[in-house]
Amino acid sequence: MTPERFQRIKQVLNRRQPDLTVLTEDVHKPHNVSAIIRTSDAIGILEVHSVNLVDEPPIFNQVARGSQKWVNLHTYSDIKIAITGLQQQGFKVYAAHLSDRSINYCKLDYTKPTAILLGAEKWGVSEEAAREVDEHIIIPMLGMVQSLNVSVAAAVILFEAQRQRLKAGYYDRVRLDKETYDRLLFEWCYPEIASNYRQQGKAYPNLGEDGEILEVSQSAIDNYWTLD
Ligand code: SAM
Repeated sequence: MTPERFQRIKQVLNRRQPDLTVLTEDVHKPHNVSAIIRTSDAIGILEVHSVNLVDEPPIFNQVARGSQKWVNLHTYSDIKIAITGLQQQGFKVYAAHLSDRSINYCKLDYTKPTAILLGAEKWGVSEEAAREVDEHIIIPMLGMVQSLNVSVAAAVILFEAQRQRLKAGYYDRVRLDKETYDRLLFEWCYPEIASNYRQQGKAYPNLGEDGEILEVSQSAIDNYWTLD
């Protein structure tokens, strides 16, 4: 861990937005999920939620470009559980979905805790999900085709959310609580060592100013060096 790398990781964590997230509903093409994760990283999103009817789609590193290491993916098998779980945490869930109650996506306030629901490539947002969410939002389409690719729709809406949050100064101060910040800092700097500490049920050690580990348990070092 170089001091420069440590500062870079801190810079990214300093801008993470724990109260902005994405929920995908059976978006199953790996390049779409990967592109959404990559955009989420660029926006400063900490976690993406994903409901998968079949298997979890693999992430394509060529598309995600490593962003999957910095954005946590939570998976569910039931859309209602995913939506109500987010609502109980205080999120408003907005479905990107064309319906008779859709409003222009720019009309919403994304500085409030927000989750954007995106639907499947072929059939979009399910009726059940459309009933459960707080609002339906639409990106105006003025051409011949009625919808955007799902990862493009995600990017359009998320960059509006970023624009509003930049204006509100949300990227100028740390928005993660200290416990989450310190945990992620250690895990992002030292993923293998962090995994050893977790396996042993031990608290992570403190880091110095340049990211150096201040005190390490001998067993964590031993385990680290015996990793394949
Ligand atoms: N035939 C599908 C439908 O009727 O919804 C099209 C699905 S579209 C390819 C996949 C997802 O991208 C949609 O469920 C929606 O979440 C998002 N999306 C695409 N274009 C959009 C737009 N103009 N406004 C809002 N969301 C859009």
